[in-house]
Formats: sequence, C-alpha cells, structure tokens
Amino acid sequence: ALVLGIETSCDETAASVVGRGADGRAVILSNVVLSQIEEHAAFGGVVPEIAARAHADAIQGVIGAALHEAGTTLDRISAVAATSGPGLVGGLIVGALAGKAIAASRGLPFLAVNHLEGHALTPRLTDGVRYPYLVLLVSGGHTQILLVSGPGGFERWGSTIDDALGEAFDKTAKLLGLGSPGGPAVERRAATGDPGRFPLPRPMRGERRLDFSFSGLKTAVRQVAERHAPLAPQDVDDLCASFQMAAAESVADRVNLALERLRERFPDASDLVLAVAGGVAANGAIRNALERLCARHGVRLVAPPLSLCTDNGAMIAYAGLERLEMGRSDPLDAPVRPRWPLDEAAAPIIGSGR
Ligand code: ATP
Ligand code: MG
Ligand code: FE
Repeated sequence: ALVLGIETSCDETAASVVGRGADGRAVILSNVVLSQIEEHAAFGGVVPEIAARAHADAIQGVIGAALHEAGTTLDRISAVAATSGPGLVGGLIVGALAGKAIAASRGLPFLAVNHLEGHALTPRLTDGVRYPYLVLLVSGGHTQILLVSGPGGFERWGSTIDDALGEAFDKTAKLLGLGSPGGPAVERRAATGDPGRFPLPRPMRGERRLDFSFSGLKTAVRQVAERHAPLAPQDVDDLCASFQMAAAESVADRVNLALERLRERFPDASDLVLAVAGGVAANGAIRNALERLCARHGVRLVAPPLSLCTDNGAMIAYAGLERLEMGRSDPLDAPVRPRWPLDEAAAPIIGSGR
C-alpha cells in the first residue's frame, strides 16, 4: 500500500509518499518540504495569514512533486493522509481540503492525522522501533515527553508549563539580535562561547513532576543582556553558550526522571528506547546530554535524521499507513482541530465540514 501524506500545520508545505516493503519495513519513496522561512523572516515569527496563503499557493505543486519523485501517480495511491491538527487553522484547512479532494475524486480512504502522532511514530518509520517507547518531542511549538504504548496509545508524562524549548532558543536569538530561526544561530555562537561565564537557572531541576519550563531562563538571559549592555560579540557568544548549557541541563534533569520511571514501569524489558523528535533535536549540546543519560540508564537513543525530526509529510503518511493497516479511516467531513492534544479525546472543533 502506498499512502500520500500532506503536512501544512505550521510553516512547511510538505507532501510525501510512503509504502510498506515486502519485508515489512516502511519505505519513504519521496519527501518534499517547502519551507516558508523566507516569507516570515522579516516578521520575526510565523504570521498565520501569510502562512495560509503560502500553503494555498504551494500545495498543488508540492503534492505533484512528491508523486513525481516517488515515480508514481494517483492511480497507484491507496489512501491519503493529511494533518488535521494541532496547528494554525488556515494551513490545516488548506492541507486537509487538498487531501479530501484527492480522496473524494479517486474514491480513496482519507486519514485525518494528528501532527503530534506523526512526530511520535517517526522512530517506527525510520528505525522500526517496537512499542512501547518514550518520545522526547522538542520543537518550536511543543515540548513534551510521551510514552507511546501501542497504536493510538499515548500517555503524556510531562510537557512545558510555559514556553517550548525551540521557542526559548528563538526568543533568546531575537533578544540578542541573531535573527530567525534562532536555534541554529544560538548554537553557532555558543560554539565559541564560555558556558560557565553567566550563571543561569536550570528550571524545574529536582522537581518530581515531569514538566518543563523555559520562560524563567529566557527572562534571566534578558536580565544578563540588559546588565551588560552594550554586548560585545564575545559577550553574545558567552551568553549563548551559558543559555544552551542551562537549557540542556534542564532537559537532561527531566529526561533522567523519565528514564527512571520508564525502567520502573518496564523492569524486565531488554530493549528500552528513547526517541527524539522536533527541530531542537538538531542541537549538539542537547544530543550529547541525551546520549550520556541513555548510556547511563541502558536505554537506546534513537535520533532520526534531522529532515524527519522537523515537520515533514513522510511522518504523516506513515501515521496514516499504520491506521490504514488497522482498517481505520476517517469521514470526509472530519474537522480540522487547531487544538488537539494526543492523549485527550475531546478537543474544540473548528473548521471545515459539519
Ligand atoms: P511544531 O513542529 O511544534 O509545530 P516548529 O515547526 O517550529 O513547531 P520544528 O520545525 O520541528 O518546529 O523545529 C523548529 C524549531 O527547532 C525552532 O524553534 C528552531 O529554533 C529549533 N532548532 C532548530 N535547530 C536548532 C538547533 N541547532 N539548536 C536549537 N534549536 C534548534
Ligand atoms: Mg516548522
Ligand atoms: Fe512539528
């Protein structure tokens, strides 16, 4: 079975064709991602109305490119999956409507996929990881630890109580005049900085609740920047390095607790896995911290290639494929849900249909 997947929840217009090989492994036949970063750069963040228009302009071409790169046509597609939430409502409507139009005109099953489910199932797509496993999702919009226990079985063990981790990187970059997206810029400047120069808080360290918090860290960075204004280039490097180290240690403390709980929950499991997802997984300091922790706990760290950690259509196609293989599909009037937590059945319903 070949599934066409469509992703339009934020600032990437993406489409992909994913199939299942004879050996049971998932195969990515194409993965086309058109980023809108340049459209939004001047505004220092994603502008919803601009995003929706850019998705509408790009969607047909991106789907066509995904089919072409896969060397296939709609005649050979078995189902269409589209991100239906959570995300920006305008983009969600564009992608979901495109998917439904194809499904309706071809008489194919339609799958309304939760974007977070796409991220959470990516380690199964890339590494064939078996249930159960833990996922650390760290992106611009989300920061959470999930136990993925089986098809549709998600337990949110903890999430951020304020800013997402990527958001903290982006805000720090903005504050220091480093441009957007901020994560890569902060990491670059941190490479030549002294992480011990500025003492910054490690939010939530030692808390028994598995949540994250980053707004206090961001505020502390602002206070240091104000106190040392005007900042010389070396000050910026040192502040980036100090921030990155504080963020990595805060994440490590939370993940350490999660790995302890994972072991308590599955004392006899021989192949426990922690998988990372989201754009912040690109960060070397955070990756190193996770590698050390996993080695200490005897847990395997699965870090998919970055192109599959950030938003893409392949993860949506794959989540659709798993659902299709369970005999599931969604009605063509399935709504889009700007808010749609993975582990909660009820969410406010807005948008197309009904
Ligand atoms: P979401 O997927 O939650 O809707 P998003 O589209 O912003 O949000 P991603 O595309 O997965 O998330 O990742 C982008 C985020 O990752 C940005 O916040 C960016 O700053 C951050 N990021 C990317 N590279 C790095 C890096 N090297 N270090 C730290 N953060 C990074
Ligand atoms: Mg993105
Ligand atoms: Fe995402």
